[in-house]
Amino acid sequence: MKVSVIIPVYNERETLSELVKTLFNTLRDQPYSWEILFIDDGSSDGSFQQLKSIAEENPEHIIVIALRRNFGQTAAIAAGIDYAAGDILVLMDADMQNDPTDIPLLLKKIDEGYDVVSGWRVNRKDKIFTRIIPSKIANKLISWVTGVHLHDYGCSLKAYRKDILTGFRLYGEMHRFIPAYAAHVGARITEVEVKHHPRRSGKTKYGLERTLKVVLDLFTVKFLISYSQNPLYLFGGLGLFLLLGGMGILFFLLIRRVGLGISPFSSPLFPASIMIVLMGFQSILMGLIAELLVRTYHEAQDKPTYAIRKIINEDN
Ligand code: UDP
Ligand code: MG
Repeated sequence: MKVSVIIPVYNERETLSELVKTLFNTLRDQPYSWEILFIDDGSSDGSFQQLKSIAEENPEHIIVIALRRNFGQTAAIAAGIDYAAGDILVLMDADMQNDPTDIPLLLKKIDEGYDVVSGWRVNRKDKIFTRIIPSKIANKLISWVTGVHLHDYGCSLKAYRKDILTGFRLYGEMHRFIPAYAAHVGARITEVEVKHHPRRSGKTKYGLERTLKVVLDLFTVKFLISYSQNPLYLFGGLGLFLLLGGMGILFFLLIRRVGLGISPFSSPLFPASIMIVLMGFQSILMGLIAELLVRTYHEAQDKPTYAIRKIINEDN
């Protein structure tokens, strides 16, 4: 078994050497072979030069991938996952807010048979109003919407069995939703409490606006998880509801015309019902188009509609 530690780096020059030292001290005592992948996400503070010299001193354990520009944390992580050789992937930040000495805790859980181990910063050391409180709300919301209950989606320190991640593509700010996707393909998930430290050097790359992006991403995630195989259930359901509602109103207007002699054209309900019927019709059509897209999506990428945990006697 091999462990790959994946660390995105964007302007974190000051912490790198301490990070590497602590990582070496921690990983040395593990029964696994290991590698550390640093993904330099277009740093401009000399982080890359620092990483390069660290890599030259430790060619057997350190890999550095330099992106051409700043693509963002999620893209950097995706690059790391693509190039990792390990069977177990550990993700963490470069700024020493996560503590490398927690890694053995995560590995122990993987050893127990979990596919995803999520760090939980019980004692989070960030700003209360712009970070901790929005994050608490976001975690509740994500847990509720995805049905995968974790205390700390935002904690970068997490471990994954590599095979649970194959077939994922990460877009936008999506790395925090990996556990939710993984659960969707049947991963066994657990949480461990991890340490957290205040940022001592460099500065955070994010502010309150990230929470907004996370909430928007949640729509995509929910849609992909619940309806990506059968979008017509969503669009068509809504469409039928509108269609029947609109027709109901029209029927009511007709009855009123016949019974009471009131002209339907004088009522605002008439144009409204026509619009509702059209919207329902549109929604069903949209669902059908989405169904076509889903089929192209799965077939173009040879993506199966299932996920296999294990095959016994595959070669017989
Ligand atoms: N990061 C990155 N690219 C970016 C922004 C951040 O690779 O565009 C890295 C950053 O260097 C750090 C991790 O992502 O290792 C988390 O960033 P940060 O510490 O700023 O986030 P916070 O801890 O404040 O949520
Ligand atoms: Mg940080």
